[in-house]
Amino acid sequence: MAEPTDLRARAEQLDRVDPLADLRQRFVLPPGVYLDGNSLGPLPRAVPDRLERVVRHEWGQGLIGSWNSAGWFTLPLRVGDRIARRVGAPPGSVVAGDSTSVQLFNTLVAAARLRPGRRTLVSDVANFPTDGYVAGSVARLLGLDLVLVDPSEPLALARVLDGHLAVLTLSHVDYRTGVLHDMAAVTAAAHAAGGVVVWDLAHSAGALPVDLMGAEADFAVGCTYKYLDGGPGSPAFGFVHPRWHDVAEPPLTGWLGHATPFALEPEYRPAEGAARLRVGTPPVLSMAALDAALDVWDEVDIADVRAKSLALTDLFVEACQGLLEPFGVQVVVPREHARRGSQVCLRHPDAYPVVQALVERGVVGDFREPDLMRFGFTPLTLRHADVLDAVDVLADVLASQAWREPRFARRAAVT
Ligand SMILES: *Cc1c(COP(=O)(O)O)cnc(C)c1O
Repeated sequence: MAEPTDLRARAEQLDRVDPLADLRQRFVLPPGVYLDGNSLGPLPRAVPDRLERVVRHEWGQGLIGSWNSAGWFTLPLRVGDRIARRVGAPPGSVVAGDSTSVQLFNTLVAAARLRPGRRTLVSDVANFPTDGYVAGSVARLLGLDLVLVDPSEPLALARVLDGHLAVLTLSHVDYRTGVLHDMAAVTAAAHAAGGVVVWDLAHSAGALPVDLMGAEADFAVGCTYKYLDGGPGSPAFGFVHPRWHDVAEPPLTGWLGHATPFALEPEYRPAEGAARLRVGTPPVLSMAALDAALDVWDEVDIADVRAKSLALTDLFVEACQGLLEPFGVQVVVPREHARRGSQVCLRHPDAYPVVQALVERGVVGDFREPDLMRFGFTPLTLRHADVLDAVDVLADVLASQAWREPRFARRAAVT
């Protein structure tokens, strides 16, 4: 079974003129088709050498002196500035460190403290679990009402952006449906109601153009191990708009967010700008891996990334619609480009074993409850032809019913 030849010809033509084609060689890629770079990006070839140097030379030889001589102390800010360029933020407004969950807690409380007396913390009813759990805890801690809406319903959202709004927090791209929200329009609506906004860029940083300053976003957080390829558990990042640089009060007042950490003063005085989002001693090894991973991004025009991402998802959708619908597979993706992230989900009642059977054949996607197979499209490493190869394998797994083997039904801890 194979897709129509005109799709194959289109994919090959797109690969011939792809301005990002050479970047693939800068990564270590397993055989098969990796469609899970939205969960964990592949290993950039520059990373192992950098880690070797940091471990053997900076740590092994330099020891404590490396905090100064190797620039370990300022690494979270320098890496933050490099991420800032990817998300439309000025130098000094982004810091790398901690996990997305921690950055979210720190920025949500800082945001709410800018709106004393207001009552509601508004979020997405279907947000990523950590975002929902953290918002719930922040609401309880500060005595706010947590209001959950479906942000893709403009009327529902407009109804809760009222005079009670303290903070609105949303994911820029929905981790499950791939819906991309209009950051500028939603931020403007929340501002008109007098609230402040915290965006989660987990599925947009490195996947598509993000313009935090253009959208007037107040705060943002994001992952670096997804589209930015920073490695397993690589540090997250936090953004504070310059208008709040002198007034934001993050609750995690660790010593490295202090204006002068080594003065060892008894009173807390926050550092300037996003540096006040620093908490404790940074994980230098994973921060260095992330720093090396970002080298590739210096050569990338994000407009090319976006154009290729849309071409890849369009191809995948067309091939799936042609080949997979007879097997009861439903394609879940916003049709309009302006509302689409860099992923496509397929709905099927046996999504879990189908994904496991696919992985065994080298096509790696993931399963998301209750019945979704999720496929992420990373333009730095994927070829258009890879996308069609993946759909062919999927069609074969479904046609042969190979996924029915009992071993594919066993659940692992991480899905
Ligand atoms: C992946 C993801 C996270 C991850 O949070 P961690 O603290 O890094 O585990 C958070 N939010 C969203 C929306 C995500 O997609």
